Amino acid sequence: MNPNIIQKARQTLSKVKPKLNKKEKILVALSGGKDSTTTAYLLKKFGYKIEGIHINLGMGDYSEKCLNAVKELCRQLDIKLHLYDIKKEMGSSMCYIRTGIQNEKHGKGLKNCAICGVIKKWILNKRARELHVNYIATGHNLDDEAQTSLINIFKGSPELSLNTGIISKDVEDKQKRFIPRLKPLFYIPENEIRKFAVKEKLPVVFDKCPCAIDSYRIQVRNFTNKLFDEQKLNIIKNAEGIIKKLDVKTGEISYCELCGEPARNRVCKRCELVRIKK
Ligand code: AMP
Ligand code: ZN
Repeated sequence: MNPNIIQKARQTLSKVKPKLNKKEKILVALSGGKDSTTTAYLLKKFGYKIEGIHINLGMGDYSEKCLNAVKELCRQLDIKLHLYDIKKEMGSSMCYIRTGIQNEKHGKGLKNCAICGVIKKWILNKRARELHVNYIATGHNLDDEAQTSLINIFKGSPELSLNTGIISKDVEDKQKRFIPRLKPLFYIPENEIRKFAVKEKLPVVFDKCPCAIDSYRIQVRNFTNKLFDEQKLNIIKNAEGIIKKLDVKTGEISYCELCGEPARNRVCKRCELVRIKK
């Protein structure tokens, strides 16, 4: 019999190195969707010390529904919720930020989800550090990870797959500004999570984000949706196997010249995007 999602998530977490300590604080990035909601539910069930964080993206009714679902979840789980508003963090709602960037020469062709993802990650890391947590947990599932792996191959950037894994790679972070990220649902297929969230009657918004249109990921998802779960797992295993063999050192982290956040280059991705507007 297939292990159920509870066993699978427990197993996944037991593989994290260095071993997770139940005294450490995990901040769960809650979108209001099934994946991050299930992540928080399971971490709480397993006895981890968790708090929630939600960024209100200011996208009308959809964002209102997400905010209400997240509040209800944190009430049910009896965990602290840290709320942030994109308008306060970035000056305007996600729709305006994105259109502003896409209307500039350098932003042409950038997809909605790509821009939103960069900005969310930037806010999450900054706020998580201020909150002195040890980890940020996200709801990324097996389907997401298989898609990312394929996207990196299709785009000819296999080096990006070096960052794949249930926990972000241990990098040398002299200024201690990067908060490691955990993905407890890494090996769990999306359809199993959906069924679980429904069965457990978790407060979840099942609507799709109204802005998630025309992304490269959607095209890849149309393909991965046709695969068996085992094939998705094999895509991940393939990436993991190659990384192990390569034994690449992830090296030292650098910091953005403009905002001071962790960055791969001189300027972080968020500042690269926002600067385009000027
Ligand atoms: P996405 O970028 O929408 O695929 O989301 C990836 C992960 O980021 C989700 O599983 C959540 O853990 C987190 N996340 C997405 N949206 C939000 C949000 N508005 N606030 C906090 N965390 C979020
Ligand atoms: Zn920056």
